[in-house]
Parts: sequence; structure tokens; C-alpha cells
Amino acid sequence: MTGPAGSPPASSPGPPAVGFRPAADHGRPPHVDDVALPVSGRKLLTADDGRPIRVGTLPGDLAWVAVGTLDGTPAWAVDVTEPESLPGRWRGWRGLAAELPAPQADLAGRALAVITWRRTHRWCGACRAELADVPGETARRCPDCGLTLFLPLTVAVLTAITRPGPAGGAGDLLLVRHTYGPTGLWALVAGFVEAGESLEAAVHRETAEEVGLTLGPPTYVDSQPWAFSGPGTLLVGFTAEVADPTAAPVVDGTELAEARWFPVDALPAELPPAYSLSRWLIDAAVRGGPPRAG
Ligand SMILES: [Zn+2]
Repeated sequence: MTGPAGSPPASSPGPPAVGFRPAADHGRPPHVDDVALPVSGRKLLTADDGRPIRVGTLPGDLAWVAVGTLDGTPAWAVDVTEPESLPGRWRGWRGLAAELPAPQADLAGRALAVITWRRTHRWCGACRAELADVPGETARRCPDCGLTLFLPLTVAVLTAITRPGPAGGAGDLLLVRHTYGPTGLWALVAGFVEAGESLEAAVHRETAEEVGLTLGPPTYVDSQPWAFSGPGTLLVGFTAEVADPTAAPVVDGTELAEARWFPVDALPAELPPAYSLSRWLIDAAVRGGPPRAG
């Protein structure tokens, strides 16, 4: 599948690309065998089996935007205003992420983020002129005043909070239930990072706000691009031990309905899905080892 035309862009030197790599320029127009990611609103067009479709299966007059490579093959996204005009299956990112390998889910998430950002950043916010693409970058620039906009990432932190068990025994993991969304699900303390705040400071603040607990130093574990809670979201996962193992969590009832310590060998069944960073952190807390096998 990967030939001279499908090589990584010149801006990504090094060994042949495996998996997903973001890119903003392929140095050539789309080829029929390139990966195609049509986007309409919050949905992506896929083949009936969920796999990516190819540029050649779609009309030739679409305004493709380079978004990255998949195993070295250039991938292109396009904003579709009449989704019913294209053959295939329109699906939300979460459904795709549940079924597809991480590289394809990450590529789909980037396509959603780039297309959504372009659709909502057409005009200069300072002088109202129409923005133009910056070649080779995921950026737009105002031709009149020079204002340059880059696709922003929203960053959120998740924390698997633990407390040690009796000497030699397994410890406990703190899980919470939200008042919104899938309210039956047991999840981790999480929240968005504020401007001016470090990741670790956000971990401490969110934990204090949501469950009233003080933590020891957070340890970074893993991260995951997450396109469901808003295009361009990056989840950053930590573990941390509670400072006072005898302290009871206190929830505000507004954002969280419940917070409870569970023995790591007796967790509830209603946990986040297997493809989520939340679950990797929970599994890591249970095993006391690395977040993802391999
Ligand atoms: Zn301007």
C-alpha cells in the first residue's frame, strides 16, 4: 500500500511511519488509494465494517485537508455539508474508538478536531477578515492583521487515587459517580486544566474540589487523545496516593453524586470502557504495574 507516493511527508523524517502520525501537508494532492475521512457535524463516514474508506470511492471535487498518515499512507479529511449524498455509514467517534485499533481511532479523532476547528474558525476575531490556511501547518492566518490561530488542545487530567491497604494487603481505589452523563458508571476524579496551571496542580485542585481530599505527589502514567468530550481534547492520566488514608471523600452533589473507596480486588462491574484511559489507570491500580500490557 505504501509506495513512493505514500511516503511520510518531508516534515516527518525517520523510519517508515507505523500507525498514526499527524500531518498538515502531504506535498501532493490526494491519490485514489489515500485514506479518506469525511466529517459531518460530529460524525465520520466509514465503510460498513467501520474501516476507513479511500479517496477514490468519493466524488472528485471535494475540498480535502491533510490530517496525517496511517501506516505511511496519507489521510485526508473533508467537511461534508450533505452527508446523505455519500455512500457509507456515518458514525460518532466513541463508537469507532470502541471498535477500531488506537491508530485509526486517533486518526478519526484528529480528522474531527481539524474539520470542526476549521469550520468554527473562518473569520479573524480581531478584524473580521477571512482567515487563510498557513501552508504546512494546522494553522490559519489573517491576511489583513496577521493574527495566526493554531488548533488548540483542551487538556484534562484523570487521577487514579489510591490508599494503601493493611500491611502486605491490597489497597483501595477511589471511584466516583457523576450527576450527569452515564450516571451508573464508576469513574475517576477528572477535570480540565485551567490556563496558568500545571498538570499536577490541576490534579490537586480537582481532587480537592470534587472529593475534598489531599494527595501526595501525582505520578504520570499515560495519556490519550479523546475526541468525544470535544474535538481536540487530550487526557493525561496520573496515579496518586491520598495523604491521609483515614480521610473520607466528600462530594458536592452538583458534579459528583457519590465517591467511595473500593478494595482493588473487589471493584464494581460498571467501569469505564476498555479503550479509555480511565480504564487503563484503573487496571494499572489493580495490577500495581504498567497501564497497558505491552
Ligand atoms: Zn485580522
